[in-house]
Amino acid sequence: MSETMLATLSNIRTVDDMVAAFQDEEQCRRLLEGMVWRAGRICPACGYKRSTAIAGRDMGKRRARPGLYQCSSGDCRFQFTVTTHTPLHATKLPLRTWLKAMWLLLQSDKGLSSVRLAETLGVSQPTAWRIGHALRLMVAREHMLDGTVEVDHFYLGGRPRKHPDNPPPGRGRKGQIKTEKTPVMAIVQRPADLTPGSSAGDARAAVVTGLSLRAAVRAVATQVELRAHLMSDEAKAFVAIGESFAVHETVNHSSREYVRDAAHVNSAEGFNARVRRTIAGVFHHISPELADLYFHEIGFRCPSALLPAKQCGKAEAARKARRSFGHEYLLHCN
Ligand SMILES: [Zn+2]
Repeated sequence: MSETMLATLSNIRTVDDMVAAFQDEEQCRRLLEGMVWRAGRICPACGYKRSTAIAGRDMGKRRARPGLYQCSSGDCRFQFTVTTHTPLHATKLPLRTWLKAMWLLLQSDKGLSSVRLAETLGVSQPTAWRIGHALRLMVAREHMLDGTVEVDHFYLGGRPRKHPDNPPPGRGRKGQIKTEKTPVMAIVQRPADLTPGSSAGDARAAVVTGLSLRAAVRAVATQVELRAHLMSDEAKAFVAIGESFAVHETVNHSSREYVRDAAHVNSAEGFNARVRRTIAGVFHHISPELADLYFHEIGFRCPSALLPAKQCGKAEAARKARRSFGHEYLLHCN
């Protein structure tokens, strides 16, 4: 992205700035192209690095639409725009609406419900809901977690309502009361260095089925490097998983042991609490099928909360980092 474009994005501090920056559709397209194709335009079909702009050219019956390019590779010739093969693919909305939605979502500390987003942007609630999900897909991060990684689990959702026609839930595994809540695993990478200014940690969460060993292995194996230093409580599934990692330390919650030197899962529990508060306070209800998408967003906001402790003005620093939004957003478009 050119320096001037980056400056345009970083300088947006108020609603007035945002309205001025995202006024012109052509300017919005250039901003988005700068974000998606930071290292130059590439063909989304074959990855070829040369293409020609054909916007406005006579295509027979009509003129090529704005922002259209054609791959220069002899056997590809794929025609694409900046939104092709991204979560914005085939959007009918103006790009300025997308950029405004991104800005609004990044401004908020905990997120925005689709109802609020719809009112603010002047679109319908289903449209705002789809915008939110597309943006959540964009902030999904795929690199593996490493270093010191804490895992913990929790249940999401309310207590099931009592109904005279429904039988009581009864007892499930190990005599525990059967629950209809969604089991979730939180995985948090601690910041490597606690000195101010060093990089923040990372956080993920995933819906697992029944907190069984197999489900837990699947969630951890796809997210954490085997050379990582794992921390967990003494849950059986975690103890079993821990054997395949370089180092595994547990704290024994049942005997009221929560911290033993550096061994604790407090960061993961902090993230759990954050997930619960965000869902209770912002989204009110999320369906278990789509929960992973919401976790991407909450995890994206979380590194700001995982900045090394005692960093002065860390909330402000985190907001600043989020505001220069070209960096993290749109990372996985191509
Ligand atoms: Zn191509």
